Amino acid sequence: MFAFDPAPVPTLPVAGSTLQIPVRRVYCIGRNYAAHAVEMGHDPDREPPFFFAKQAQNIHVGERFTYPAHSSNVHHEIELVAVLGRGGRDIPTSEALACVYGYGVGLDMTLRDLQDSAKKMSRPWGVAKAFEHSAPCTPIVPVTQTGHPDAGAIWLKINGEIRQEGDLNQMIWKIPEMIAVLSQYFELAAGDVVMTGTPSGVGPVQRGDVLHGHVAGVGDLHLAVV
Ligand code: MN
Repeated sequence: MFAFDPAPVPTLPVAGSTLQIPVRRVYCIGRNYAAHAVEMGHDPDREPPFFFAKQAQNIHVGERFTYPAHSSNVHHEIELVAVLGRGGRDIPTSEALACVYGYGVGLDMTLRDLQDSAKKMSRPWGVAKAFEHSAPCTPIVPVTQTGHPDAGAIWLKINGEIRQEGDLNQMIWKIPEMIAVLSQYFELAAGDVVMTGTPSGVGPVQRGDVLHGHVAGVGDLHLAVV
């Protein structure tokens, strides 16, 4: 018996279906597009990948993003999102894609001012990355419809103007490699969400902005900043 009622399970809808995905964990990869690594002041060489986490409850399906009160430099990072339908430990790269249930379009919203000061003080990024509603995401399209996207346009427009633009083929660490490496650190399982990194062009959003993100073959994300 629970001491009190358990919190509701965070969910992501399956596109075109009444099914819901129970979200378990949210893993994010850092600096996974060379041009974005350069714009953040780092060497784009294939350094070992690094990861950080958001909370499952940060996943946010909806058309509005509430600008958080405790930041004045909230950045957009448009990302391809992969959701696992099964997991495991020490998954070989060759078997990793078979774990993916589907794909969506997401935003790794980032409090850049808080992240910058955390970096300077060698502190963790949690408050800058895992804040409430920090992971807006579209419904998830099953792999049976998308295949496994490894090339194609990824972009973000704000108020109709292009801000981020790249190609999925510019990922330094490919999705099967990300899953394989994550599974060396963590026990992966169905419902785990992997945010696969952002192309260059990250920058601030303002209240009143209308964001339109796109990943070829996956979908479109529309979000108003309020
Ligand atoms: Mn990111």
